[in-house]
Amino acid sequence: MNSSSDSDFFDVIVCGSGPAGLSASLAAVQSGARTLLLERLPGLGTKLLASGGGRCNFSNLLPEPEFMAAFGRNGRFMTDALRTGGLVFIRSFLRSEGIETVAEDGFHCFPSTGRAASIRDAFLHAAQKRGLTVKTSARADEIRIREGAVEGVRTAIGAFSCRKFILATGGTAMPALGGTSKGLLLAEAVGHRITPPLPAMAPIPVDDPWVSELAGVSLPDARLSFTAGRLRGSCRGELLFTHEGLSGPAALSLSGPAGRAWTEHRDSFRLILEPEAETDRKIWCERIDDARKKEPDKLFRSVPGRTMPRSLAARLAALAGLEDRRNRELKNADRDRAASLFAGIPLTVSRLSPMEKAMAMSGGVVLTEVNPKTMESRLVKGLFFAGEVLDLTGPCGGYNIQFAIASGRLAGENHTGTLPLEKQG
Ligand SMILES: Cc1cc2nc3c(=O)[nH]c(=O)nc-3n(C[C@H](O)[C@H](O)[C@H](O)COP(=O)(O)OP(=O)(O)OC[C@H]3O[C@@H](n4cnc5c(N)ncnc54)[C@H](O)[C@@H]3O)c2cc1C
Repeated sequence: MNSSSDSDFFDVIVCGSGPAGLSASLAAVQSGARTLLLERLPGLGTKLLASGGGRCNFSNLLPEPEFMAAFGRNGRFMTDALRTGGLVFIRSFLRSEGIETVAEDGFHCFPSTGRAASIRDAFLHAAQKRGLTVKTSARADEIRIREGAVEGVRTAIGAFSCRKFILATGGTAMPALGGTSKGLLLAEAVGHRITPPLPAMAPIPVDDPWVSELAGVSLPDARLSFTAGRLRGSCRGELLFTHEGLSGPAALSLSGPAGRAWTEHRDSFRLILEPEAETDRKIWCERIDDARKKEPDKLFRSVPGRTMPRSLAARLAALAGLEDRRNRELKNADRDRAASLFAGIPLTVSRLSPMEKAMAMSGGVVLTEVNPKTMESRLVKGLFFAGEVLDLTGPCGGYNIQFAIASGRLAGENHTGTLPLEKQG
């Protein structure tokens, strides 16, 4: 794959071969730019290949405003990116490469091939057909700047000149699949501020011993929420108890914002589990009263046991101090205490998941220093950003790859109308 000489000049150099870098490379060659893609690993798109269990959940069917809202208060940063590289673009591009897409559950989008590799290869082949040069095992070590503008990059395999450099180096999550802080350091070295990386799309470790005793039990429709100072967040969906705490889509999706809130407001941080998202305190009171009337001799644990796994129901009855009590023995105060607990079980968090277990990174290049209309740095002319290296992370469900592809496309486009750029020195 490594073919051209070290002294080559490229109009555009893209750093990182994840979905952001592949999409940026395609957009750049489509605009006629002589383009080089650098990847520090021997293979291309390593994390992309592992995504969605190897099937790549590349987007979802949410309307754009709701899609952006899922990224939190900065979600609107991607308005222009989605306009150019949103679901409409991805579908029509993949179709042009002979790949149909499916959303079997009416939400999560996958390639109909069932293989993440077909998405990587579609971008790669389309870009290489238009002249993209690819260099692997080619780690970028320094972005070279002259008079406030990019002039090239120093890499493990030599130096290259360019007038446009797109940093699409992803985040620090899951180093085994290529996660690294290299890109953040490159951005920092040229003056960009970095929001410190924290795990996202990660399990949430919980200290309460009863949680690990339930390892393997899952809840189909739970709500997990946190409060910390004035920060709030909640996610609803399937939840899984593990030996270390909580996993499943609801926990994975909440882990990014919850981890940030925990880090910044540790003293006031509270994590609350509602095992049944639809069942509030009032409904629990009604269910308990009903059982007191109709099933007075049954053990109290049978009340949560009607709708929850037995092991969890027994544990909840014990937490409410009603382990061996029968329904007829319950006082109103017992009912109220149990109903309040079942409608919001407080959990204890004293650490976050390690990055090794996180599927994404929260944090990254501070957004106020990047122009959302082009993805260009506001500090360094000709430096662009795309994908997870930016401080914008979504929950589980195709959000992050969609943002990577969209921001990559916007970054790779020719905004000045002057590309291909004139060859320099
Ligand atoms: C197991 C797993 C499953 C996932 N499943 C999904 C899913 O189904 N849907 C979804 O939306 N998201 C999913 N994600 C998250 C998603 O994969 C990432 O958010 C996405 O890949 C980010 O794209 P990116 O292009 O910004 O970065 P990456 O995909 O991380 O690519 C960055 C590339 O840059 C390279 N690089 C880094 N530094 C340098 C350097 N200095 N020089 C040269 N190259 C460098 C890296 O080696 C890497 O190949 C999953 C993540 C994991 C770990």
